[in-house]
Amino acid sequence: MAERSWSLGRALRGMFVKPVIDENTWEDLETALLTADFGPDITERLLEELREKVERYRTTDPRDLQRMLKETLEEHFAAFDTTLRLTERPAVVLVVGVNGVGKTTTIGKFAHFLRRYDRSVVVGAADTFRAAAVDQLATWAERGGAAIVRPQQEGQDPASVAFQTVEYAKNTGTEIVLVDTAGRLHTKGGLMDELGKIKRVIEKQAPISEVLLVLDATTGQNGVMQAQAFLEHAGVTGLVLTKLDGSAKGGFVLAVQERTGIPVKLLGQGEGIGDLTGFTPHVFVDALVS
Ligand code: GDP
Repeated sequence: MAERSWSLGRALRGMFVKPVIDENTWEDLETALLTADFGPDITERLLEELREKVERYRTTDPRDLQRMLKETLEEHFAAFDTTLRLTERPAVVLVVGVNGVGKTTTIGKFAHFLRRYDRSVVVGAADTFRAAAVDQLATWAERGGAAIVRPQQEGQDPASVAFQTVEYAKNTGTEIVLVDTAGRLHTKGGLMDELGKIKRVIEKQAPISEVLLVLDATTGQNGVMQAQAFLEHAGVTGLVLTKLDGSAKGGFVLAVQERTGIPVKLLGQGEGIGDLTGFTPHVFVDALVS
């Protein structure tokens, strides 16, 4: 993987070419981790674990510290199962999150990602209050090679669109259903009730395989606070971090997992149709540290 904006590589480079580990090394490492948005708690824990390892192995070689950093990060990431569960037929995925985080774009990219694995996909436009949102989703669905089920009129009950989308999948043998939902924050209570209803209606027809909460990585910890209601009420099973391109916050991926207890399952790294990847911890840590 080429060097990304969120890679620690540049920040660490000077540190690991020094002849020996000294107090400056630790200070530089702390600054690098905090800058990458690991957050103070995780940064402190990582530094403690690393100091312990350095002592245990009686090394003063910064290259050993680099290896240990990689190992330690991998251990932390490995605590989460980042695999997408899409084995049901149809596999129904509900995509939730506040407006502007990249939900619609993610659905288009995800459809494209699944099409590359030869999966048939239908998207459901259950954000029925803005006609523009439906049109935007239709454009992305087309680019992603997915069918779309639209509301028959503006403001149609979102749960009924979700129902029709699952029905479409069952009737046509479509393998994956991606349901877009509304993200209006000012009607939080109403929105959570709406999501609850969508879930109940879908579950009458098919189990829900994943509820993916989309978070904008550039907003970091604030984004998590904004999404708290979804975390509390929507039964989230996985996170999608968007806009990681152009963000220096690679550490946020671990911070958000530890803070919410929910694994990151997809990463969005650009506005192009191909800019979504599954989340493979060791590949990510490799790119983060090297
Ligand atoms: P929604 O309101 O949550 O459905 O958000 P949209 O899908 O409409 O996205 C909002 C904006 O974020 C759009 O301008 C997208 O092009 C942009 N966006 C979404 N994902 C990414 C990403 O991974 N990287 C970048 N740079 N921009 C993104």
